[in-house]
Amino acid sequence: MEIKAVHFDMKAMIPTADYALTLVDELAEQGINALLVEFEDKFPFEVTQGIHHPCAWSKEEFRKFADKCKERQIELIPLLQSIGHLDYLLKYPKFRDLRDGGPEGSSYQWCLALEESYTLWCAMVDELLELFPETKIFHIGADECRMNVPCEKCGENRLDLYVKRVARCAAYIQSKGLKAVIWDDVFRKHGEEKFAQLPEGVVCCIWMYGALDNDYIDRMAAKGLELWGASCIQAHKFHHAMGPQGPKMRNVDAWGRVHEKHPRSFSGHVGTIWGRNQCQSPFNANLPQSMFMTAYLAETLNNGVINDRASFISNFGRDFFGVDLDYNTMINYFCYEPGYAEPIVTELKDKAPRHRDIAEIWYGLNAVDQLLFELYACISNNDCQLTTYSNGMAPREMTQAWLKHVDRCKEIVRNGLVELKPLMTKYFPEKMWEEFVDQRFKAKLEYNEYFRHLLSAASLKWDDRLKNE
Ligand SMILES: [Zn+2]
Repeated sequence: MEIKAVHFDMKAMIPTADYALTLVDELAEQGINALLVEFEDKFPFEVTQGIHHPCAWSKEEFRKFADKCKERQIELIPLLQSIGHLDYLLKYPKFRDLRDGGPEGSSYQWCLALEESYTLWCAMVDELLELFPETKIFHIGADECRMNVPCEKCGENRLDLYVKRVARCAAYIQSKGLKAVIWDDVFRKHGEEKFAQLPEGVVCCIWMYGALDNDYIDRMAAKGLELWGASCIQAHKFHHAMGPQGPKMRNVDAWGRVHEKHPRSFSGHVGTIWGRNQCQSPFNANLPQSMFMTAYLAETLNNGVINDRASFISNFGRDFFGVDLDYNTMINYFCYEPGYAEPIVTELKDKAPRHRDIAEIWYGLNAVDQLLFELYACISNNDCQLTTYSNGMAPREMTQAWLKHVDRCKEIVRNGLVELKPLMTKYFPEKMWEEFVDQRFKAKLEYNEYFRHLLSAASLKWDDRLKNE
């Protein structure tokens, strides 16, 4: 297989630009030879000035990153969304007029009846190619376009406009002498025959992150199109820190079997790591935390489906970190039972002679999961008792016990986060870490505080009830 890629989704909590260079070395050593970089609001586009995230990298930092990729023979493949997933632009007043459905319409996708949405996209492409002139492959995204946004300009023609726009964007990329790649799902959902309307040579990247639709894959292979597969190697949309690894390994295994079945149809594969579900949803997975799954993917793409997963995990841990520990327990308990993973990941963080950075990041995110479990246990149990508390039906001993738990949660979480900050900001910009902590904890801590007031009042209500009886 020609392209063995990992997705670097910069919607995520991105690492510092310096630290990211070491991750390129790591991916190259694992056997990955391409990075699909989704820039979003982390690239300082001149044509969209004013929309950049405070932690966006500078052009110099991106240039260094591209040089590092070149040095390690990693193909840098830019991804610039051409239809939807555009909240990062369209949420700003100055781009409102481009929204599908008009200024009060969708901030998710732009109107395809407007020429300006095409010209702005082309200008952004040009800027990327100016900074990365060695680019050979360019991904134009185009997944998950919504057909049901009411829009006077699009009328009933949105699917037609969509197909024409994708074809036009792909042709623009090809006019620069590059290979154009698209996500396949809109065609898959709305009519496979429409693939024929794309310019010749467009690569269709089939993404399937759960069970694979093997009939569809077989049909696509029979069409003679150039195909890439895409697995999901890291994502955890229920807002924990370390994601479950098991379903990700199963998805990579399933894709490994597809690639064994159709060796000639698939010229590439991308293991995706989703930094957020949408531009405006909370942080999800990030690149450095995914270094186990990138190794799992690289092994599958280079040497075929992994048959003995437990041995792979043990060997990976020993080789990667240079110390023998119970990696199977640690990897399998991440996310589900962070308390069981904790002693092993702590030992790893203290002892690993190699890749201490990854050990520290895993330790930090596993610790976040433990703090969240503490809060969830307290808040959800109190949630269930809301009516009991507000009607004064909870005995004083009960409310006092929960009040203690509310206090304890607050203290554990506050102290835990203070302890984690210097560790995590070695690898992530401080503002990114603060954003992550805000998203995970701020509202929950305020809810915890709300229960303090409620439980204090509930104690008094219980006393009043007893008096009145
Ligand atoms: Zn429209």
